[in-house]
Amino acid sequence: MKYSLLKIIKEGITGNKNWRPIWRDPEPKKSYDIVIIGGGGHGLSTAYYLSNLYGLNDVAVIEKGWIGSGNVGRNTTIIRSNYMLPGNEPFYELSMKLWEGLEQDFNYNAMISQRGILNLCHSDAQRDAFARRGNAMKLAGADAELLDEDGVRQVCPFLDFENARFPIKGGLAQKRGGTVRHDAVAWGYARGADNKGVDIIQNCEVTGFKIDNGVCRGVETSAGFIKANKVASCVAGSSSKVMGFAGMRLPIESHVLQAFVSEGLKPILPGVITFGAGHFYVSQSDKGGLVFGGDIDGYNSYAQRGNLPVVEDVCEGGMAIMPMIGRSRLLRIWGGIMDMSMDGSPFIDKTDIKGLYFNGGWCYGGFKATPASGLCYAHLLATDEPHEVATEFRLDRFINGNMIDEKGVGAQPNLH
Ligand SMILES: Cc1cc2nc3c(=O)[nH]c(=O)nc-3n(C[C@H](O)[C@H](O)[C@H](O)COP(=O)(O)OP(=O)(O)OC[C@H]3O[C@@H](n4cnc5c(N)ncnc54)[C@H](O)[C@@H]3O)c2cc1C
Repeated sequence: MKYSLLKIIKEGITGNKNWRPIWRDPEPKKSYDIVIIGGGGHGLSTAYYLSNLYGLNDVAVIEKGWIGSGNVGRNTTIIRSNYMLPGNEPFYELSMKLWEGLEQDFNYNAMISQRGILNLCHSDAQRDAFARRGNAMKLAGADAELLDEDGVRQVCPFLDFENARFPIKGGLAQKRGGTVRHDAVAWGYARGADNKGVDIIQNCEVTGFKIDNGVCRGVETSAGFIKANKVASCVAGSSSKVMGFAGMRLPIESHVLQAFVSEGLKPILPGVITFGAGHFYVSQSDKGGLVFGGDIDGYNSYAQRGNLPVVEDVCEGGMAIMPMIGRSRLLRIWGGIMDMSMDGSPFIDKTDIKGLYFNGGWCYGGFKATPASGLCYAHLLATDEPHEVATEFRLDRFINGNMIDEKGVGAQPNLH
């Protein structure tokens, strides 16, 4: 179904009776060229780019729940490309560029809002580190602006500058950063892939692989065996479980991350703000709710719910920079399962099993990566070569020592 102003007017005056579901609900075929496991943002964007860019449409996306039930519909919707390391920054900047054209590309309103992101710094050393990061971003073609305290006061006069435990010394701003309506991203990509003939199979769980002599021949599912020339795992927080079906042990741990939404407030936040002396990030939704989060819960879990100590820690972070939010009430809290890699960076790679591919390790920053991850995974599946901005996202980097430790914290998934 095409969307246009004419169509909206016509439906508006004729009782909105002719809108149709925007993707089909097909029965799985016996075989496909490519089977993607996981109907999250990355699985659906991979299917979209395979069919729309590489002309491959004998593709199925197999999702155990409903599309959007995973992290793509659970995140705090922040997009940015403020990375520093050469293995990461070109990839995230490509993703930012794809976000900028996405609504036109898939003809769907994903409420992409480049309202800016501001990372606060609280010490001279942190300011130096931000200057270095900003320079690296600029060298990779991204935008970055270093603000002093007065510069921060101008954009966020409501922050606590007078009596703070961690005084605000300035910040690194990326004006092209912002937020995107997360589930609309899943819906837009699903619609665009379905239009080209991709089968999106919901409520179908992958329970195993058929592997003959080191070659993957297809997937066992709750709806029976589905044969495939290529199988692409894209299950985020369930990566260790699913790749375990193929006997693989990944450099990934699954942890819970919680998100929080307050009651609706009058517009106050100009964009995304992050606290630099703890872990707290916040934006304000179009409905007025403050959408915020902080650290992962720090223990391994596959449960989509978290615990109270992190609630306290996150709220302390918020109170430290803007004490006035203590008077607003929390409306909702939920959790998602994060695929935390040991160096904090992702994987888009082939595996040692022929025909089996892996995408994962997104930690809690994979929403912003959705367009570039899909494009690069589609490129790998279509050509068997890594995309030029994803050459470092290899599974063997823990064998040859080429880690991409963006935060410089070492092998501590809970610190990335
Ligand atoms: C609370 C929270 C806040 C976050 N905030 C941000 C943010 O602000 N910015 C940002 O960039 N990132 C953020 N993230 C991270 C981001 O959401 C994830 O990195 C990203 O969504 C992961 O990729 P995905 O969308 O493909 O995952 P998912 O949506 O989780 O997709 C994986 C899918 O695989 C399916 N699946 C699992 N096992 C099977 C199986 N056996 N068979 C079939 N299907 C299966 C699951 O049901 C799921 O739908 C946040 C995450 C959370 C939880």
